[in-house]
Amino acid sequence: MIRHHPDKNLLLEYASGSLARGPSLVMAAHVQMCPDCRSQYHTLNSLGGALLSQSPAQPLQANAFECLMTRIDQIPDKNGRQVKSDSDASQATKKDPAFDNLPRVLCKLLAKNPAHSWKNVSRALQVCRVRTGQGDYEVSFHRLRSGAKLPEHDHRGQEFAVVLNGSFSDHYGIYGAGDFVFRGPGQIHRPIATQDKDCLCFSAVAAPVAITGISGLLLNPLIPFRPG
Ligand SMILES: [Zn+2]
Repeated sequence: MIRHHPDKNLLLEYASGSLARGPSLVMAAHVQMCPDCRSQYHTLNSLGGALLSQSPAQPLQANAFECLMTRIDQIPDKNGRQVKSDSDASQATKKDPAFDNLPRVLCKLLAKNPAHSWKNVSRALQVCRVRTGQGDYEVSFHRLRSGAKLPEHDHRGQEFAVVLNGSFSDHYGIYGAGDFVFRGPGQIHRPIATQDKDCLCFSAVAAPVAITGISGLLLNPLIPFRPG
């Protein structure tokens, strides 16, 4: 059962097409997994469509999801490969069992990143960064080993994330598959994956995290941040 959802303003920003691409990808994945938010999104979308039909000057953009999928299609692909269909997109996730049963938007994003690979950040954490054709957010998948504890950290910018598989807990609650997570500067937390399975998340961050305490003094200058 999904317990954590984006707030109404964020959903409205997403539905109106005014949310940046990085957070929009996280929102699209959550909306595909969450029947409640999907229903609200469709209501907002019909309202936006009705407003558009009444006023040509109205800045709202109907069908934010379709626009986002089109923008994924337009991501420059250094191999010149085109993703023509949903089956092409799902093929892109078949090679890696970590990506079983992903929301459609993320299958398509992975298909645009055929060279994606996992990098070990520590024994507890692996990261797979993906290109999304924008320059403000670092967008990536994170895999936290079952039972692993990440260092306590703060955020220097906004973080949007959705849990895709497994679960973790932190100072703010317990997050399972489909749950939406938002963290802003000053929200210190220490995620701990549950013991039963690895936890897979997808996130967009506007700045690198800052590890708290003395170890942060040593490690924070080394933490990379690669928006794209
Ligand atoms: Zn929701």
